[in-house]
Amino acid sequence: VYKLDENYDYLFKLVVIGDSGVGKTSLLSRFTKNEFSFNSRSTIGVEFSTRTIRVQNKIIKAQIWDTAGQERYRAVTHAYYRGAVGAMLVYDIKNYESFVNLERWLKELRQHSDPDIVIMLIGNKADLRHLRCISIEEGSGFAEKEKTFFMETSALEDSNVEAAFIEVLSQIYNVVS
Ligand code: GDP
Repeated sequence: VYKLDENYDYLFKLVVIGDSGVGKTSLLSRFTKNEFSFNSRSTIGVEFSTRTIRVQNKIIKAQIWDTAGQERYRAVTHAYYRGAVGAMLVYDIKNYESFVNLERWLKELRQHSDPDIVIMLIGNKADLRHLRCISIEEGSGFAEKEKTFFMETSALEDSNVEAAFIEVLSQIYNVVS
C-alpha cells in the first residue's frame, strides 16, 4: 500500500487469477475501459490497467494486474502476486473445471500473498444462464468455506463488474484505514 502524490490518496494493487478463458481480461477491460470484445486476445505484453475511483471520500487508484496469458503455462510468477492487497479469483459458471481449479489458485495465492489480502470470488459469464453448471449456492458455499467475498458477474452484460471491484477496494480501504 503506497501513498505517493496528490493525484490519489491510495494506490492498491489487485491481481486477477483463474483458469484461461474464464474472462479475466474481459472483466478488467470492462472495469477500466468499459469495453467488451468477443475475441479478446489482447493481453500479450500488457501487465496492468488502472482506474481511479472515489471510495468513502478517498481517491483510490486501482492498479489491476492481468496474467497476460501466463496462466496457460501455469507460470504465474511470484512477481505477479508481490504487493497485491486484493485478488479477484474468477471461474466461469458454465465451466466445471474452472470451478474445481479454484482450490489450486487459492493455494497458490495464499502461498504468495499477505494473510490480510481481500479476495473476491467471481462466477463470471452469468449471462449464459442456459449453460450454467455451477449454481449460485455452490459458488457462495465455496466462498463461505474459504472466507472470501462472492459475486456473479457478466463482463458481457456489464452486470456486477463495477460492484465487485468497488467492494474489494472498499474492503481494502477498511483494512488499511
Ligand atoms: P481470460 O483468458 O480469463 O482472460 O478470458 P477472456 O477475457 O479472454 O475471455 C475468454 C472468452 O470469454 C472471450 O471470448 C470473451 O469474449 C468471453 N467472455 C468473457 N466474459 C464473458 C461474459 O461475461 N459473458 C460471455 N458470454 N462471454 C464472456
